[in-house]
Amino acid sequence: MTNPTLTVLLVEDDELDRERVHRMVGGVWRVVDAGTGQAAADSLARERPDCVLLDFLLPDAEGTGLIPAFVESGVPVVMMTGHGDEQVAVEAMKLGASDYLPKRDLDGDVLRRAVDSAVRTAALTQQVFEQQEELKMFASMASHDLKAPLRSLVGFAQLLALDLEAGKHEKVLEHCQRIRDSGTRMARLIDDLLEYTRTGRSAVVFEPVDLDVVVAEVVARCEALIGECDGRVCVDPLPQVRGDRTGLCQLLQNLVVNGLKYRRDGDYPVVRVSAVQEGDRWCVCVRDNGIGIAADSLEKVFRPFQRLNTRARYDGSGLGLALCKKVADQHGGRIWVESVEGQGSGFFFTLPSNAER
Ligand code: ADP
Repeated sequence: MTNPTLTVLLVEDDELDRERVHRMVGGVWRVVDAGTGQAAADSLARERPDCVLLDFLLPDAEGTGLIPAFVESGVPVVMMTGHGDEQVAVEAMKLGASDYLPKRDLDGDVLRRAVDSAVRTAALTQQVFEQQEELKMFASMASHDLKAPLRSLVGFAQLLALDLEAGKHEKVLEHCQRIRDSGTRMARLIDDLLEYTRTGRSAVVFEPVDLDVVVAEVVARCEALIGECDGRVCVDPLPQVRGDRTGLCQLLQNLVVNGLKYRRDGDYPVVRVSAVQEGDRWCVCVRDNGIGIAADSLEKVFRPFQRLNTRARYDGSGLGLALCKKVADQHGGRIWVESVEGQGSGFFFTLPSNAER
């Protein structure tokens, strides 16, 4: 299958060869012509092609000399060589071309297959690159966040030693407590990290899930927290959806816990869970009357390790909403938040209805 929205930059100065290519694939892709190296460089910026078909001999340059610029811009190159140009083919591949095609063997099928495969490989390479970058960022943020409790653990242990040396026994208990707090925090961070990295790694089996049963279970688990803050969780009638029960339970629990946790001083938290049908999907909403989120942070909160409030006021790892996003992604759904600072937030996510397969 070829892609009708593909733009192919044909860098070829020979009119006959150009026409041949147009006849073979002009109806399948958008083919943009460039007769010189300079014109090709201009078109690269202007047309943002998905692939380049490159002739070896151009009036102002050798085709191979252009390959690095294309490859650097992430555009795959298929080199077209003349008879007996094996050396050129080898050089082109060394410079990063995806493929080479001897002109004499050129036909529509060969050309389509070469370009399709080059475009697919380039997309996968880009995806791997982005995933690696994300992983690097994740690792650096994880180590940064893990080091914080570790630092205070070491610091308070040093203070404890000084207390004992100086005979300040009244401080010993306080510093022991701080060491315990840091240890507990570190353990929780590691648990959250493990839960986050495990989620979405293995393929999940979708099954019919009664959301009202899931939310009842979530509320039961939050009983202690609800009692602690004199909160309320109201649940409207919820549908049956198709999904991963465990993931949906984690998602809803994180949203309900946040709704109770990020409450305004002196206010009793009220969290409401509801759902509306939108075509063949359900849109579930978890709304609270809490502190709300500033407009410029509405997207940020779904990224790992993003915390908007100081730890002294609201403790957390900053991984809960990132995990919610993973679960929503896994269900082919969307997750977002609507909020007015100081007036509460509504977290929304979409799920396939049980009828959708
Ligand atoms: P955390 O472990 O810090 O709660 P989350 O990923 O669950 O991490 O949330 C990320 C940040 O988004 C929180 O630190 C908080 O600042 C903000 N946030 C999440 N839920 C709410 C909410 N219901 N109301 C206000 N702010 C929230």
